[in-house]
Amino acid sequence: MAKMFVAGEWIDSESGDVDEIRNPATGELVDTVPRGTRKDAEMAIQAAADAFPAWADVPFSQRGEILFNAARLIKDNEKELARLLTQEQGKPLRESVREIRRFVHTIEHYAGLGKNVRGGYVPLLDRGKYGRIIKLPLGVCGAIVPWNFPVALMGNKIAPGLLAGNTFVVKPAGTTPLTALRTMELFYQAGLPRGVMNMITGPGGTVGQEIIENPTVRKIGFTGSTATGKRVMELAAKELKKVTLELGGSDPMIVCDDANIDRAVSAASVGRFYNCGQACLAVKRLYLFESIADEFIEKLVAKVQKLKVGNGLEEGAMLGPLHTAYQREEIEGQVQDALDRGAKVLVGGKRPEGAEYERGFFYLPTLLTEVDEASRVIREEVFGPVLPIIRVKDFDEAIEKANDSIYGLGSSIWTRSLRRAEIAAEKLQAGYTWINSAQIIYDELPFGGVKQSGLGKEHGYEALEHYLETKAVVVAADV
Ligand code: NAD
Repeated sequence: MAKMFVAGEWIDSESGDVDEIRNPATGELVDTVPRGTRKDAEMAIQAAADAFPAWADVPFSQRGEILFNAARLIKDNEKELARLLTQEQGKPLRESVREIRRFVHTIEHYAGLGKNVRGGYVPLLDRGKYGRIIKLPLGVCGAIVPWNFPVALMGNKIAPGLLAGNTFVVKPAGTTPLTALRTMELFYQAGLPRGVMNMITGPGGTVGQEIIENPTVRKIGFTGSTATGKRVMELAAKELKKVTLELGGSDPMIVCDDANIDRAVSAASVGRFYNCGQACLAVKRLYLFESIADEFIEKLVAKVQKLKVGNGLEEGAMLGPLHTAYQREEIEGQVQDALDRGAKVLVGGKRPEGAEYERGFFYLPTLLTEVDEASRVIREEVFGPVLPIIRVKDFDEAIEKANDSIYGLGSSIWTRSLRRAEIAAEKLQAGYTWINSAQIIYDELPFGGVKQSGLGKEHGYEALEHYLETKAVVVAADV
């Protein structure tokens, strides 16, 4: 049985209750974890508060060294961690390996910044006085993480936050705590002092809520749905806490008549179907110029038909199951709504058949065409392997339709015209725009949504700034 991690110790919940973690491909029990309570979360927050003053005094470069050590230990344990991640989350093993590597890369990225953090000097108008700008950690931070990338999305918060000198209480999603818990141990082996990072497992409504409401916590790094994000912001406002909210998305991909079709087809397939479509940044609406639409669709159909669905632990599986029964029902409801409004299924549109699929939440990769734009698959976030395709007559129509969404996370355009690409980079309402590129995210670049996709940035130097307080100091040198 797994346990929670507080002040460097493995603990059970004070309630004694546990939750089962089951493999979404087979229904098999992977492990049990304590069902944490508000009281457990309170204790973890206190541990983080006690550890804060000493951690804040450790120089940046030394904190960076500890992060480098942690990254190395995680790398050394990559195989074991990836296997556990597939068992609890469902994604194919090679995608789990990729996620662990992404986590390592993020930690290394911020560890490296430890030697590069700079303050500021400002000459002042008053004679004999000068100003300095210093950066200070915030205090105890809460990291609330969803189930789709349980490790990488934790890394986006703790790596900049720890480097900045903050201490943490992390709450993983209820169904994916195991790999994250295992990494806690590795951070402590790497030299992280007791209490600097703590993890409480359990429901969002209790553990998560305590982290958000407890006045000792000064900042919340949250990734999850837009609905929960709004609730987090509302609760955090009571104590005027800082928040970074990374929320839902419905990324448009535009393919113009002068695009490299083969490359764009590959990008659409990977961009929609990795992690079984359960990704915030994913190609969720495909807009094709009329003149290339038939060729594009024919090539995309051929590619998608070859995607092998299966248990993520099995060799060759390219799409695992959806994470929960609820996720699959949501997808089925969205597809049915599109069909009721006249959409046609080009590929998939149902569960796969066969004994090996009976116990998991599998769904076939699906392409829909002739989709009414009032359909749920266009208006809502589609968190599964379903891609609606829409034909457009020209560039202006493509941009207008792409922007017709409450979301603004990612976006992409495929064209050889520099003019079109540059206009799209400015006009697409999103935090990220890829031009002739697959939807790959970089630690070096700030990432975060506009509109209802979020607030604040992760990645880049900007994320570090979100975990630091900027303070002005005036020095009179003539006393
Ligand atoms: P969710 O909002 O249901 O849960 C996210 C986390 O919040 C979980 O740990 C959950 O336990 C916790 N939580 C739930 N209710 C809470 C409450 N009242 N108070 C405090 N915490 C609470 O999201 P999910 O279903 O786990 O994740 C999928 C969503 O996350 C999708 O919408 C997806 O687009 C989004 N997402 C966004 C990004 C991004 O970077 N923008 C990345 C990945 C996922």
